[in-house]
This record gives sequence, structure tokens and C-alpha cells, in this order.
Amino acid sequence: MDRVLVTGGAGYIGSHACKALRAAGYEPVTYDSLVTGWSDAVKFGPFEQGDLLDRTRLDSVFAKYEPIAVMHFAALSLVGESMTNPGLYWRNNVEGSRHLIEAAVEAGCMNFVFSSTCATYGDQDNVVLDENSVQQPINSYGASKRAIEDMLRDFEAAFGLRHVIFRYFNVAGADPDGEVGEYHRPETHLIPLMLDAIDGKRDALTVFGTDYDTPDGTCIRDYVHVCDLVDAHVLGLRWLSGGKRSRVFNLGTGSGFSVREVIDQSRTVTNRAVPYKEGPRRPGDCTKLVSGSTRAKSELGWSPTRSTLDQMIADAWRWHQSGHYEK
Ligand code: UDP
Repeated sequence: MDRVLVTGGAGYIGSHACKALRAAGYEPVTYDSLVTGWSDAVKFGPFEQGDLLDRTRLDSVFAKYEPIAVMHFAALSLVGESMTNPGLYWRNNVEGSRHLIEAAVEAGCMNFVFSSTCATYGDQDNVVLDENSVQQPINSYGASKRAIEDMLRDFEAAFGLRHVIFRYFNVAGADPDGEVGEYHRPETHLIPLMLDAIDGKRDALTVFGTDYDTPDGTCIRDYVHVCDLVDAHVLGLRWLSGGKRSRVFNLGTGSGFSVREVIDQSRTVTNRAVPYKEGPRRPGDCTKLVSGSTRAKSELGWSPTRSTLDQMIADAWRWHQSGHYEK
């Protein structure tokens, strides 16, 4: 069975990717420091605990498993934190990725699938965000991801490292089977925070900014179901295995929802009141991030089937009620 090295395989998206890889006939090998991941989430293949900055450890894992490809999810990904502690993002994300990329090239593992973000585009009002849009990140998280994209291009030019870059919009939902789900500590994401507030696990949700230039004054995001998102990664892997050229794909549905719309839909799905209050803007937040690309559908054959707001909140709610991980 072909093995794929999955960095961040103990995290939210990485654990769902491991499940999808296993279902597609690959053996996912998780490499994760457990700084933000959960050992309970590693269910679909071997686990190697390690840090991206530990090059010796990375080399030994490449030698042990001889993976045919890397899927690189491991990253710090909090916009707010990246604004207050940018060094952490440049060190962990950029420097850590350099170690991983160099280890992959030296091991001869020349297929690389990378989790990037729409935060690399920055705040571009009234612009359709497709893969050719200019990248002008307004936070260190986005800047760190853009730097890694550049690094991949340089390593392709120098050594032939072929890659697929996925620029995610907002990932939401959970495995409908309930085997894995979203669990961050601390939690900063809208939907899990709101579900916590709904069932009294935390105080009311704060809506970050109601004076944006949007119809209801709150930020607009393009939400994608995590299972649809990871399906695209399996297609990306096949794209590379099939010898196709390096490519960038946006992963969004093209539908944007405001924070207020997400709150309203959550009230409907859970049939409970959503306790919330209005607060100031969060530094680093863009007004509107919605994908304007159909490239993943037309070229990769990606067909998201679960990414309605309804389904994403329902799956997240089911997971939320059923449990969580322990370290
Ligand atoms: N948001 C909010 N209150 C919260 C968390 C998030 O109003 O407690 C808003 C945030 O400003 C953004 C949207 O919800 O407009 C999605 O934020 P999230 O942190 O989930 O993802 P991001 O877009 O930062 O990747």
C-alpha cells in the first residue's frame, strides 16, 4: 500500500484527510508534534510524534516509511495570534516547512500537497478571488503561507519538487460518522465557539465587528465542509501521481455567508437560541473572502456534496454533542 506522510494528521483537517486517504487505498502516516493536535484523532495509520523543526526526526521518518507523497497540514493557523506573535508564525510555519521540504527532496519524495489559505489574498473588496488574484496578505498567518508557496516554487525550479497548493476558504463541519471532528484548545473559530455558546459550555459568542461594508455589517466567508475539502486532497494526490504539472487550486464553494447568517442558520439547525453580543473588529480580519474559481471542479473533478451551511452546522453539532479528544 502506498504511504503518504501527513503532517498535522492529529489535527482537525489532517485527521479527516487520513480517513479519506485510507478509504482511497493509501496508508496515511501521521507526523504531528501534538502541540495543537490530539493523539486520539490518529485512527487510520501509524503515528510518529515529532516537530517540523526537528530535521533528524523528519529524516528518520522519511527513511522508515518511504512515502510517495507529503500532505502538509501542520501549521499554526490563528489570524489573531499571528498578529500578536508573528515570530511564532515565521518560525513554526515557514522555517518548519523549509525543514520538511528539504527532508522530502533529500529523501526523493517529490510529490507535495500543501494546505494554503485564502488569507494569502488579503482584503480585496469587490474582487473575484481566483488563483490568479494578487496575493497581499494582511496578517502574518497569510504571509507565512504565501512564503511557503514561494518556497515550493523555488524547490520545484531547483530540484523538481512537484506540488499542488490548495488555498482553503473557511473549513467547517465534521466527519458524519463521528470518528473525527473539530476540536481546538483554545478554540477561536466561529462555528465551534457558537455551538459551545448554544449549549452553555461558554459565554455568549462575540460578533467581531458589525460595521463592515457588507449587507448586514458582519464579515462574509466561504465555508467548505471538511470532508469535501479532504476529498480534493486525494484528487490532488492523484493529479501528481498522474504526472500532471504543479498547480494551485482554491477550495471554496463560491457562496459567502455573513456571521449573522451563520448565527441564524445555527439557530434553525440546533433549534436553540444562540447567545451572542456585538463587539469590535478583530485585527487582521478581511471583510469578505469568497472564492471566485471553478478550477478545482473543472480540472480536478472536485464535486463538493456536503458544503451547504445546513449540513456543515448539522455535522459540527452532532460531533460537538458526542465528545472530544484527550491528549
Ligand atoms: N468571528 C466572530 N466571533 C468569533 C470568532 C469568529 O465574529 O468569536 C468571525 C470572524 O471575525 C470571521 C468569521 O467569524 O469574520 C470566521 O472566523 P474564523 O475565526 O472562524 O475563521 P477565519 O476567517 O479567521 O479563518
